[in-house]
Amino acid sequence: MSVLTLADDPRAEPTLQGSDIAHLRQAIRGDVVVPDDGDYHQARKVWNGMVDKRPAAVIYCAGSDDVVAAVNFARSRNLRVAVRGGGHNVAGCSVCDDGLVIDVSRMKRIEVDPVRRIARAQAGLNLGEFDTATQSHGLATTMGVNADTGIAGLTLGGGFGKLGRKHGLTCDNLLAAEIVTADGRLLTASASENADLFWGIRGGGGNFGIVTTFEYRLHPVGPLLLAGSVLHSYDHAREAMRFYHAFSSTAPDELSVDAALVTAPSGERFFSISACYVGPLDKGEQIVKPLREYGTPVEDGIAPVPYVQIQSAGDSLFPRGRRYYWKAQFMREITDQAIDTLLTAYASAPNGSLLVLQQVGGAIARVPITETPYVNRDALYDCFPISIWDDPTDDEVHIHWARDLWNAMRPFSTGGVYANNLGEEGADRVQAAYGENYPRLAALKSKYDPTNFFRLNQNIRPAL
Ligand SMILES: Cc1cc2nc3c(=O)[nH]c(=O)nc-3n(C[C@H](O)[C@H](O)[C@H](O)COP(=O)(O)OP(=O)(O)OC[C@H]3O[C@@H](n4cnc5c(N)ncnc54)[C@H](O)[C@@H]3O)c2cc1C
Repeated sequence: MSVLTLADDPRAEPTLQGSDIAHLRQAIRGDVVVPDDGDYHQARKVWNGMVDKRPAAVIYCAGSDDVVAAVNFARSRNLRVAVRGGGHNVAGCSVCDDGLVIDVSRMKRIEVDPVRRIARAQAGLNLGEFDTATQSHGLATTMGVNADTGIAGLTLGGGFGKLGRKHGLTCDNLLAAEIVTADGRLLTASASENADLFWGIRGGGGNFGIVTTFEYRLHPVGPLLLAGSVLHSYDHAREAMRFYHAFSSTAPDELSVDAALVTAPSGERFFSISACYVGPLDKGEQIVKPLREYGTPVEDGIAPVPYVQIQSAGDSLFPRGRRYYWKAQFMREITDQAIDTLLTAYASAPNGSLLVLQQVGGAIARVPITETPYVNRDALYDCFPISIWDDPTDDEVHIHWARDLWNAMRPFSTGGVYANNLGEEGADRVQAAYGENYPRLAALKSKYDPTNFFRLNQNIRPAL
């Protein structure tokens, strides 16, 4: 009989006995993986290879009933709980030491109603699976840019990507959700049922319960869109960044333009501008023309591409298991001073590091900020250095570089941050992510989760 120690959590019982595990296995239709099992080390892994946590058990839920049983079990034993969708949270919030990981990643059913343009999707789908299913009907809704990311964490924190400027955030396209709350109830949250909870889950992250199913509004998209990158040599990066700012800040909603300072495996550096036009190809050609005609790009990869392919274009950069660190902040404009600061900071980037400017704005900016918890609607760029490496002895170099760049860019930031791009940065940064909506979120937290049962997340503390 195995005895698992649950240390350093004031709320946790000291041990989870083998008899508890037997009880859990009886209650769960899906799989329960514990440290004695051969697949335990696989089960405790998340996307970021920096994260090395050892839960007492990982519960792979087969459906909502399993989620209810897992929540009730954890509550009855006073166990710490991490909730996992796609496992992409950069800080590894979706796994924990000692307690339970409640994992929904095997819940992958999706039904698309092409007439009503609605998708009902279980929370375990990743973006690639969701996009493939909706695109088979010529439809899509806003999702992020990496196919392996979970729809669950992304939607609950906001969600932006190539369609965001045209169709709003992922959470703006959420019509309803089924959610298991801390007391083990399975509730529907929508505009007409538990409307306060519905407000909270459109940006408030995993604070209010475990979502088992999302219902999204879909839009006709593609299948081909004009998309791709132009690459400028590093020597011309300063002027190209100025052009990028002028071009992107006057772009129509249909166009999203991201940019990055990148280093090729050869060590050569470039400035890359990636465009995606969400509309007819011929119109896209006209709109994108100034981008293709600007300067003397070393490469022009803009072409009609299937939307599903666009969505996974960056996947090879972010495989599971490598070591990652980033620190993000929003900007409204990219001034000449900001460009100088970025270029100076990027000069000392360790190999494998990039600086990303992901464009937001458009339809995202036209939703009133009290409509959902997501407040950073007036931002135009999410700016973040990303460090990627493999050798743990390089941790310090990579983390310091990203932090230094972030600090240097503080004067140019709105002060706001995207909750889904937060690492373990403390309560102040969570407040910065929610701004004036924080008190309402804290009041909602005290209604639906007064004991802060769901706290391994970008945590909103229950109001007293
Ligand atoms: C390579 C990469 C690219 C990215 N690109 C984008 C992008 O383009 N746009 C964008 O908006 N974001 C992007 N992100 C950020 C992404 O939105 C977050 O990392 C998000 O948390 C991932 O969701 P997940 O389900 O994979 O995460 P997980 O790590 O599984 O979960 C993260 C947190 O979400 C909550 N959660 C997960 N599942 C549930 C559930 N079913 N019910 C309740 N709470 C739950 C939990 O609090 C959990 O701690 C990217 C991340 C990566 C790693």
